[in-house]
Amino acid sequence: MIKHDVVVIGGGLAGMRAAVEAAEHGADVAIVSKMHPVRSHSGAAQGGINAALGNREDDSPENHAFDCVKGSDYLADQDAVEAMCEDAPRQIIWLEHRGCIFSRMPDGRIAQRPFGGAGSPRTCYSADVTGLVILHTLWEQLERFGVKVYEEYFATALAVEDGIGTGVVAYNMRNGELELVTAKATIFATGGLGRVYAKTTNGYASTGDGMAIAYRAGLPLMDMEFVQFHPTSLKENGVLLSEAARGEGAFLLNKDGERFMFKYAPNKGELASRDVVSRAEWTEIQAGRGVDGCILLDLRHLGREKILERLPQIRELALDATGKDAIETPIPILPGMHYQMGGVATDKFGATQMPGVYAAGECACVSVHGANRLGGNSLLETIVFGARSAQHAAAYAKKVGEVRPSERTLKAEKDRIAELMARSKGERHSAVRKRMNAVMSEDVFIFRNEAQLKQAVSALAEVREAAKNMTVMDKSKTFNTDLVGTLETQFLAEIAEPIALGALNRQESRGAQARTDFAERDDEKWMKHTLMYRTDNGPRADYSRGVVLTKWQPTVRTY
Ligand SMILES: Cc1cc2nc3c(=O)[nH]c(=O)nc-3n(C[C@H](O)[C@H](O)[C@H](O)COP(=O)(O)OP(=O)(O)OC[C@H]3O[C@@H](n4cnc5c(N)ncnc54)[C@H](O)[C@@H]3O)c2cc1C
Repeated sequence: MIKHDVVVIGGGLAGMRAAVEAAEHGADVAIVSKMHPVRSHSGAAQGGINAALGNREDDSPENHAFDCVKGSDYLADQDAVEAMCEDAPRQIIWLEHRGCIFSRMPDGRIAQRPFGGAGSPRTCYSADVTGLVILHTLWEQLERFGVKVYEEYFATALAVEDGIGTGVVAYNMRNGELELVTAKATIFATGGLGRVYAKTTNGYASTGDGMAIAYRAGLPLMDMEFVQFHPTSLKENGVLLSEAARGEGAFLLNKDGERFMFKYAPNKGELASRDVVSRAEWTEIQAGRGVDGCILLDLRHLGREKILERLPQIRELALDATGKDAIETPIPILPGMHYQMGGVATDKFGATQMPGVYAAGECACVSVHGANRLGGNSLLETIVFGARSAQHAAAYAKKVGEVRPSERTLKAEKDRIAELMARSKGERHSAVRKRMNAVMSEDVFIFRNEAQLKQAVSALAEVREAAKNMTVMDKSKTFNTDLVGTLETQFLAEIAEPIALGALNRQESRGAQARTDFAERDDEKWMKHTLMYRTDNGPRADYSRGVVLTKWQPTVRTY
């Protein structure tokens, strides 16, 4: 049996940052990850990470916090936002001291680029491969501390004894065995759920596992209706072209060659917040002003030299997918599913409602993004709350005595998976996933309304039932991707419903939730978080958690 003081589920930026922090605090810590850590989706992050470093005199952590609160459409908890923005400069220096190579200004200071919804240029970057550079820096630190990594271990369930989290059950993908991983403190850092939609900028492994596991164990998911659609994903394959492109000055054009964004955001134009830009694009396309159903991202005026120096990956991704060279031709783009603002509800230290269980990174909802996340704040969240959750988990692990290995949970998981493997009839996971993807992409998209959302909620309940009765054709023990895909689809089917039900219940438009039938923000009724608890008949909504306000009262939000 595997046993450690602190176990981190996930080896992306949040998971690795957490593990390094726990190791620095002297905890016996390990990572459980379904893939090699440096292959995590964090490695695809291009644009950068926000911090008010003080390069510009008019910037400060307080300004950064205000931008986040406004970006969130006043749904973020302001105490958590302030904690994040306060800690941001220190975390950038921490990374820098451990060898992270950030791009520089000519005088040697860390360079910062403008990003959407930000009052100052405060996004630190490594060209347009920021996530990968930070990921490798943290991997070196894991090696330095000799942190044990259980790679190709797929967590399937939270182990709970006497109401306390005691680790997870994990499926060892190499030999097909289920193993108990016992820990005094467990930190979920399993990333996003993009694969719930048909097209997404997310990797294939972003299947919301940690959210579903926590939800099944009785923990609430928070603010799941707030799904971010990124304004610039490639029409061909949904792959992201980073906001860094617009940060460096790229234009968005409609079929008349008009920079239409200034109609929707007179001050910020292309650099308004993502929800605003995605809605504007969709409105232009619906009004027949798209180009073959797309918007054009035009980089040409930036010039060859700047594109090659600052945005080389973006040019390459577009070239590979479209055959078009951004130096010479505008690139057709569409808004695409990108990020989940919601997740496992935590406090500002990463603690969930269950003792011994923490969450950090995209799978968590702290909440620092509220109804809409600003670009560059997710990488920051992984680093700040990865570290914070580990400090608290390590302190908690020191305090508690031995925990009882949950043989019960192991047995239940063994029985569940044996039954699944023995089943010879039922749908394949690909078919169930396709149905779910279609519902989400058609009825729970950028603009929403009651009729579509009602339809989605009932279709997703059917999908959840179908997901229980799927069949696995491959009965082998070694690297059984059919089984893993089936388990992932079950996770996705579990968390799709809270997204649709949250969107249906919330009769207002706020941030990424845009209701055509309730077009205004309604602070009187809806300045509150959505909590979703699992029941056998679908999610149960709870609206008892209010929004924490510190300095900023809600006002009209314009860009
Ligand atoms: C293309 C793209 C570009 C982006 N660019 C930016 C940017 O420039 N700036 C920014 O701030 N944000 C950006 N984001 C968002 C940001 O990158 C992510 O939100 C963030 O990196 C998520 O990190 P994470 O550590 O929470 O999860 P991930 O990096 O997704 O890692 C999840 C980890 O969990 C593991 N895991 C998952 N399920 C299981 C399981 N069942 N058992 C065991 N292990 C499991 C995986 O193996 C993986 O190691 C971007 C996102 C995308 C998709």
